[in-house]
Amino acid sequence: MKCKRCGGEHVVKYGKRKGKQCYLCGQCKHQFVSAGGRHTLQEEQSAVLLYCLGMSFTAIANMLFVHPSTILRWVRKYAKDNRKKPVPQGKIVIDLDEMWHFLRSKNKSMDLEGFPPRGGKTDGLGVEP
Ligand SMILES: [Zn+2]
Repeated sequence: MKCKRCGGEHVVKYGKRKGKQCYLCGQCKHQFVSAGGRHTLQEEQSAVLLYCLGMSFTAIANMLFVHPSTILRWVRKYAKDNRKKPVPQGKIVIDLDEMWHFLRSKNKSMDLEGFPPRGGKTDGLGVEP
């Protein structure tokens, strides 16, 4: 028996769930159900590889006969287990166009700081038209 996540061989029995034998990996502490599980590690890795090569979730799901949300879950799990979330560095760039439309849709008159404009007519963003 190998761990479904890391492929490690140090696996011990870890109780039963819904009548199926559960196992615990001694290396990564991952709990999983015995063989007869619906998907193999190879399927998961293939799905992640295909996603990284640019295929869509739907296309991969159709190929592997699973639901697209399953592919999403596998990709997220792979990213969480293997990659560090990047920390934003330097300046943050905000697309003002989206913010502009969002604020324009509001009836409240507020400037970018969140305060109502002081006198004068503005267009809702604190900017004179
Ligand atoms: Zn493991």
